[in-house]
Amino acid sequence: MEITKNVFQLDSVKGSHVFLIKADENILIDTGMPGASKQILAEINDLGVAAKDLQKILLTHHDIDHIGNVGILEVQTGAEVWAPEADIPYILGHKNREGIKWLIQKFNRAPKLAKLNSYADKQKFGEIQIIPAPGHTPGHSIVSYRNVIFVGDLFKTSGSEIAKLPRVMNRDQQQAQKAVAVLKDLKYDWLCPSHGNPIQNGAKIQQFISQYS
Ligand SMILES: [Zn+2]
Repeated sequence: MEITKNVFQLDSVKGSHVFLIKADENILIDTGMPGASKQILAEINDLGVAAKDLQKILLTHHDIDHIGNVGILEVQTGAEVWAPEADIPYILGHKNREGIKWLIQKFNRAPKLAKLNSYADKQKFGEIQIIPAPGHTPGHSIVSYRNVIFVGDLFKTSGSEIAKLPRVMNRDQQQAQKAVAVLKDLKYDWLCPSHGNPIQNGAKIQQFISQYS
């Protein structure tokens, strides 16, 4: 599905979304649950991006449904992989996730990555800006590109409703709620959560954000 010009939400990946930006560089945001690498590569190819032409993979946070194919995609595309510094030890399996996520982690091996780059403070890639919005995980970050913001697990949508992630999924609930307020200072037409449909800027989203100011 094309959200705006050259910005796509991949249709072939279910559960947790994978997004493709075709800009000066071709960039993937998050990688879905394990086992979806073939679908991802086939769909971006259909959208005009051959595997070797993917330059970067940007991760919003360490959860398995976001990093599930990052190891195999790094090998198959040669793309640089980037992630929030505070989440890198969890991605690489050097730190254990907590609570329910520890159990999920037990069934998934940490990806073997040739290189995992860490976002700098106010990291930019051309017109793409990385914005820290921690709480869901220690380093959880959102990604802004022109009039679209990929909000990761800052919130989810269900139909036309906006909802917080369940408390049990957030490492620091208070911090995760406060993080929603970063949206107040940003300009956008579309917010794209990792779970649920993209939502257009309007009264509903502004009302949601205003609860956390
Ligand atoms: Zn998550």
